Amino acid sequence: MISSKTLAGKVAVVTGSTSGIGLGVARMLAERGAAVVINGLGDATEIETIRAQIETDFGTRCHYSPANMLNPQEIRGMIETAGGCDILVNNAGIQFVSPVDEFPEDRFNAIIAINLVAPFHAIKAALPHMKAAGWGRIINIASAHALVASPFKSAYVASKHGVAGLTKSVALEVAAQGITVNAICPGYVWTPLVESQIPDTMAARGLTREQVIGDVLLAAQPTKKFVQIDEVAAFAGFLCSDGAASITGAVLPIEGGWTAH
Ligand code: NAD
Repeated sequence: MISSKTLAGKVAVVTGSTSGIGLGVARMLAERGAAVVINGLGDATEIETIRAQIETDFGTRCHYSPANMLNPQEIRGMIETAGGCDILVNNAGIQFVSPVDEFPEDRFNAIIAINLVAPFHAIKAALPHMKAAGWGRIINIASAHALVASPFKSAYVASKHGVAGLTKSVALEVAAQGITVNAICPGYVWTPLVESQIPDTMAARGLTREQVIGDVLLAAQPTKKFVQIDEVAAFAGFLCSDGAASITGAVLPIEGGWTAH
């Protein structure tokens, strides 16, 4: 049984948490008592509403960092101004769907930069705090695409497979210091990221919207249901608990059975 405020006194930084999975994870960590730094792009007024709502709902401190995950200096600044970093959730991510021989080079580079290189910079900046504390939790929100591939997603699949490797390597480096490093690999979760790739997938595969949802997205998931944001957040919450102290270097699916095929 996980008591309600088990993360009181901890500082958690969640990248890309103005939307989707990251917001769900940030709210879960705040609910358990952590002070939370949210981050991401978007409308300033809407972000301030999200930030204030977390403080109101959970009675914990919530700070917003506008750091762009394309900029290593801003990533370092986000960690330095967080007031410590006990929990780091590398969640910010982007997607682009295209045949590889038509893949725009700037899109490919941006996907690698945000999905893979940004977690490296955040981990590098956060680890000294965790080592000093003798405790830390790093959770990389990877994807089922860290384990298997799909066509037309070369950059995304490459970035997420890279995140799996980064996770394992860092976990080995810090395993004896009370710090766990894991990757969560969701299947399809209904968020703006999934919504936005439907038109490109329709074009790339010549399908209708309904066909993309039923025959492409959910075709891979034996449960025939989208994974819920709250399920991913609960999984991350468990990895932050003492009960998960021996889980490290793991690349953990939560994808309705997709990779059991
Ligand atoms: P989303 O689009 O709802 O949220 C992405 C977040 O990243 C937003 O807060 C956005 O502002 C932020 N972001 C994007 N570019 C940024 C940048 N340059 N700097 C800072 N922040 C930036 O997406 P989501 O579906 O919640 O995805 C979150 C993570 O989960 C991603 O890493 C994604 O690859 C992964 N994931 C999603 C699914 C899914 O089905 N939705 C499945 C598996 C993995």
